[in-house]
Amino acid sequence: MRISEIFYPNSLGDLLELLKANPELLIVAGGTEVVGMQASKSLSFPAQIASISHLPELQKTTRSEQYLEVGCCTTLSGLLTLSSGALPAPLPQVIQSIGNPAIRNTATIGGNLCCKRRFMDLWPFLACIDAQMEIRSLHGNRWAGVSHLSDDAGLPQFPEASILTRIRIPLHAPNFSFFKKLGNSRFPSPESAYFVCMAEISHDKIESFRLIFAGERAFRLKDHEATLIGRRVPLSQKDIQPIVDYYSAEFVEKTGNDNYQFNALTEESLGRISGQ
Ligand SMILES: Cc1cc2nc3c(=O)[nH]c(=O)nc-3n(C[C@H](O)[C@H](O)[C@H](O)COP(=O)(O)OP(=O)(O)OC[C@H]3O[C@@H](n4cnc5c(N)ncnc54)[C@H](O)[C@@H]3O)c2cc1C
Repeated sequence: MRISEIFYPNSLGDLLELLKANPELLIVAGGTEVVGMQASKSLSFPAQIASISHLPELQKTTRSEQYLEVGCCTTLSGLLTLSSGALPAPLPQVIQSIGNPAIRNTATIGGNLCCKRRFMDLWPFLACIDAQMEIRSLHGNRWAGVSHLSDDAGLPQFPEASILTRIRIPLHAPNFSFFKKLGNSRFPSPESAYFVCMAEISHDKIESFRLIFAGERAFRLKDHEATLIGRRVPLSQKDIQPIVDYYSAEFVEKTGNDNYQFNALTEESLGRISGQ
């Protein structure tokens, strides 16, 4: 049995020094994913672990006119206790559907976004509403959209020896959303994924459009989303079918799978935008 060395850094600065000394250091926030995903009774960890959930600077919440800013170690229950209206719809409903109350009391928003082996439930929603994240390393800090947590092949990516510190969640979410959790709804499995479609509809026109399918891989056609902006709604079945066919063909091309549920959900979301 390997004994791991566990660190409890006193500050973010100390944590960054630990990461500099060992870029392989495993960061543990709530630990629900790190521990919960191990099938065997005897848990296995890398040589060095750093626990971060006790750091006050990673738990702060502030609010401006445009966004809510939360520390990465804010728990999912903590997010739900924010005053009503602080989180844009449908985030409260999505968070409520994650795991169970015990998991939500421990699991953090940072851990949900930084899972290395798949996309967890919050990512597609936060990517759709253009949430921003602060990444800190010893080289400095930078803000980027959470959509950057997916690489070109649709796999999770996170910069080495870095930590996600804060997330800015826009207070205004698009006025149309349609989403469905597929597979096991209470525990992430290879079959589970989220289909999320969000759009801003104003004066019978599509002002913005986002469609993401995320599980072990993420699928999104940013360029195609842009081509739908300005389209008049309602869309007729003649308008919808070519869009569904395009998404379906690209899905097969990019993921290697022909997913009938994805095709049906794409069609349903476009139908709903059109009030059909
Ligand atoms: C029974 C059960 C049910 C679950 N159900 C769901 C579900 O329905 N939906 C869902 O989305 N998830 C689910 N999960 C998975 C998990 O609980 C959540 O995704 C949770 O939000 C992970 O947060 P955490 O703080 O526990 O992450 P941790 O386990 O602490 O960390 C997860 C990963 O993120 C990295 N990490 C954590 N914080 C940071 C940071 N600030 N910067 C850089 N890297 C970081 C860690 O190194 C690790 O790789 C479930 C888990 C269990 C055990």
